[in-house]
Amino acid sequence: MPLTVLDHALAAHLVTRLRDRETPPEQFRPLTRALTRILVTEATRRLPTRTVTVRTPLEETAGVEIAGDIVAVPVLRAGLGMLDAVLEMLPEASVGYVGLERDETTAIAASYYCKLPALEDKTALLLDPMLATGGSAAWAANQLTGAGAAQVFLLCVVAAPQGIARLAESFPTLQVIAASLDRDLDDRKYILPGLGDYGDRLYGTF
Ligand code: URA
Repeated sequence: MPLTVLDHALAAHLVTRLRDRETPPEQFRPLTRALTRILVTEATRRLPTRTVTVRTPLEETAGVEIAGDIVAVPVLRAGLGMLDAVLEMLPEASVGYVGLERDETTAIAASYYCKLPALEDKTALLLDPMLATGGSAAWAANQLTGAGAAQVFLLCVVAAPQGIARLAESFPTLQVIAASLDRDLDDRKYILPGLGDYGDRLYGTF
């Protein structure tokens, strides 16, 4: 399974600000958007393009556009923090939603909502900032591949080795783009060093 961990000073700076327990939600949200723009830039580097003709105010010239349709799929609720940045960069993308909630005692994710647009032959950008055990991402990736997506990218802020291993086993073609690969999971399946509960950090539900 192709895994890319961002190697960029700005991405590392943004991740550090996100990790800081003193960063309040009103800063956490724009930091998430800024980092997502870098993740989208990295993912879209891998998309096919086609040559088009464009007319500048002065003359006609050859240009390039991304070929094929894109569907952004945030995993509720933390993935919602990444959606606006994706749509700013790819305004024609359509959007699906996957609602998964993890049981705090078992850490197993259960689905409570799934609404997806047509995915046949499209590129799906799955937005889930914390790849911990890989349970949620695996459930969502299964829906996307089952619905016929041509390729699926998982964009995450922090990934744990356990989540990467789990996805690699079941989704050899899934392309994971992470801003950081962290060390481990704790007993409650939180990522270490991580940054805590992403949804809580985004929305102030501590
Ligand atoms: N989800 C989170 O929000 N944080 C973690 O550390 C793991 C899963």
